[in-house]
Amino acid sequence: MKRILVTGGAGFLGSHLCERLLADGHDVLCVDNYFTGSKRNIAHLMDHHYFEVMRHDVTFPLYVETDRIFNLACPASPVHYQFDPVQTTKTSVHGAINMLGLAKRVKARILQASTSEVYGDPEVHPQTEDYWGKVNPIGIRACYDEGKRCAETLFFDYHRQHKLDIKVVRIFNTYGPRMHPNDGRVVSNFIVQALKGEDITIYGDGNQTRSFCYVDDLVEAMLRMMDTETGFTGPVNIGNPTEFTMLELAEKVLSIAGGPSKLTFKPLPSDDPRQRQPDIAIARNRLGWEPRVGLEDGLRETVRYFRNLLQG
Ligand code: NAD
Ligand code: UDP
Repeated sequence: MKRILVTGGAGFLGSHLCERLLADGHDVLCVDNYFTGSKRNIAHLMDHHYFEVMRHDVTFPLYVETDRIFNLACPASPVHYQFDPVQTTKTSVHGAINMLGLAKRVKARILQASTSEVYGDPEVHPQTEDYWGKVNPIGIRACYDEGKRCAETLFFDYHRQHKLDIKVVRIFNTYGPRMHPNDGRVVSNFIVQALKGEDITIYGDGNQTRSFCYVDDLVEAMLRMMDTETGFTGPVNIGNPTEFTMLELAEKVLSIAGGPSKLTFKPLPSDDPRQRQPDIAIARNRLGWEPRVGLEDGLRETVRYFRNLLQG
């Protein structure tokens, strides 16, 4: 049993990670300021003997004892991270400094939940970890993209300068139960629209692509990364390499959720990447991992979750 700190533990990915860590027999401290996360996401864990929750903002220092840290605190959807962009950068950068400082003091291993957004609107396809990316540093996505890039810089400098035991994963679009229904991300938007019988909003012509990873696959990869040998830092891409256009996604959601919704076309937000697909060769080789849940199975679970949520 290890003492494990999960920042952003009441969020979509964090709540699944806490659940899995408890099931694996660990002592879990969930830290969250509930900006996008909610107690509802972790309510079913509250009675667990080894689960503890702390309301705390990671932009302020944290003094706890822990063996391992998963640093997930940061709003992840464009709607939320653009709501207060200065706070988004602070969360990534000051949050990383505070969690790295904590890891240094208690000699904990620390994993950073980075993102495919560090590649920006990529000129290399699929994206490999050695690609440095094409990010607009002054655009509306920069608070998130550059914040996450700077957090990676901090992780690698703490590793080189202070010999910290770091792990960095770059997460590609992940979906599943407990996504925020109003976070504007494409999977939750399309499902909620279909279940309410509203039009499905396609931004641009809908031919831009993304590859979608189911949350259980993602959590498995993060755990495997955390368990790799000391000295293996990553970054490692984690995602599902099967690529879909937004039009294909809309069609799949409609066929699973049913309902009378039609497609409606809206302007493409600025700096919206045209295509995105992870090269997961390193994850395959070093973690022995690859995604197992196909889009249709994952969407079925997610539709079930949102149907219950909207009825409740
Ligand atoms: P989420 O918004 O559901 O979770 C983020 C959590 O962090 C929330 O519970 C929120 O309340 C908390 N938080 C935000 N600012 C905080 C602060 N200053 N102090 C403490 N807690 C704070 O998003 P998610 O999808 O679960 O993403 C989790 C992590 O994974 C994020 O770091 C995100 O950048 C990364 N990521 C997610 C995806 C994805 O597709 N879901 C893709 C790439 C990277
Ligand atoms: N998108 C869309 N309709 C929506 C929400 C998003 O067509 O209602 C598009 C969006 O423009 C982008 C893709 O879906 O091209 C994925 O968007 P999301 O915000 O989920 O993730 P990200 O852009 O960060 O990959």
